[in-house]
Amino acid sequence: MSDSWLIYFVTLSVLLQIEWHTMKKHNFSAGPSILPQEVFQKASESVLDLNQSGLSILEISHRSDAFTEILDQAKALVLQHLQLENKGYHVLFLQGGASMEFCRIPQNLLSVGGTAGYINTGTWATNALHEAKLWGNVIELASSADRNFSYIPKNIYIPSSLDYVHLTSNNTIYGTQYRNFPKVDVPLVCDMSSDIFSRVLDFSVFDMIYAGAQKNLGPAGTTLLVIKESILGKTQRTLPSIMDYQKHIAKESMFNTPAVFSIYVSYLTLQWITNQGGISKLEKINRKKAEILYNEIDRNPLFEGTADRADRSLMNVTFVLKDSQHQQRFEELCVSADISGIKGHRTVGGYRASIYNAMPIESVQVLVNVMQELEQQV
Ligand SMILES: *Cc1c(COP(=O)(O)O)cnc(C)c1O
Repeated sequence: MSDSWLIYFVTLSVLLQIEWHTMKKHNFSAGPSILPQEVFQKASESVLDLNQSGLSILEISHRSDAFTEILDQAKALVLQHLQLENKGYHVLFLQGGASMEFCRIPQNLLSVGGTAGYINTGTWATNALHEAKLWGNVIELASSADRNFSYIPKNIYIPSSLDYVHLTSNNTIYGTQYRNFPKVDVPLVCDMSSDIFSRVLDFSVFDMIYAGAQKNLGPAGTTLLVIKESILGKTQRTLPSIMDYQKHIAKESMFNTPAVFSIYVSYLTLQWITNQGGISKLEKINRKKAEILYNEIDRNPLFEGTADRADRSLMNVTFVLKDSQHQQRFEELCVSADISGIKGHRTVGGYRASIYNAMPIESVQVLVNVMQELEQQV
């Protein structure tokens, strides 16, 4: 009797697990986007009870020991993963999204009467440039708008009189990514919202890196900033406190209540990166995933990629159907394979598969299978 009950329960729990797995979709959304399943699990447990403290992560003070420890460890992991320890960088977790930094960057770095240089490689880069223009002189150093941002401009001349240069390492909407960064002898600021922690770079060439968490790091609500303190305090501007990076550094991201939950989940992701073997290991897997998908796009006669091959992104893979008559069938096949979030940005059309760090290689294979199935059916 008790044996058969045991078998019953084991069978039931196995079935429930299988059921749960089939319910979890292959999420190719560009942002907010997929996070590691372990991170979802741990975050959900902490909403009920943070490390057996009897308190939810959602109800503790941002000045409690429990949270300041999380914040300190998150900052340390950021510098560790980027190999920027003891190099004069500060880590901040602020609010307002990457778009807020489009505005804070010129306020903090563009001197009165000075000039900033922007490289325009897509919608976000354009937005950053427009915000900067409100605060002073801005020149567009290069742009790929002439071919709908399908490539990264090369051999850009950069005057050394600029206050700083701004660029966007990965263009989330257009699916392009820098392989090599221009050499500059002025402060270099980089929006890494959609490829932070996805590949090894010499991050010390950047004086400021920032990234909205919701692409490759955590939930929406916080923005990671890594700033070299030596570039600040040179503009002769008086800023409102909340706009002033020096104030945020002095207050260690606690000028006002930080986005506790977003920072906590980002911290869990940073730990997950460590457990995966760091960003060099993730980069290998990311390259493999991108290779599988781009190979199919290039092989399959029904599809074509929209970004120049040399500048293709490892994170956001953009492609179209050559013949739009197959659109409905392709999208039906995607739905029945539990593929979610594959539609391209409204300004580009077509499809975009975002294959961030947390995207398993198996899910990329499911998409490739669907593309092959379509080829067989038409
Ligand atoms: C999504 C994105 C942004 C905008 O981020 P918000 O947090 O919504 O302001 C900026 N830059 C890049 C590269 C992005 O992918």
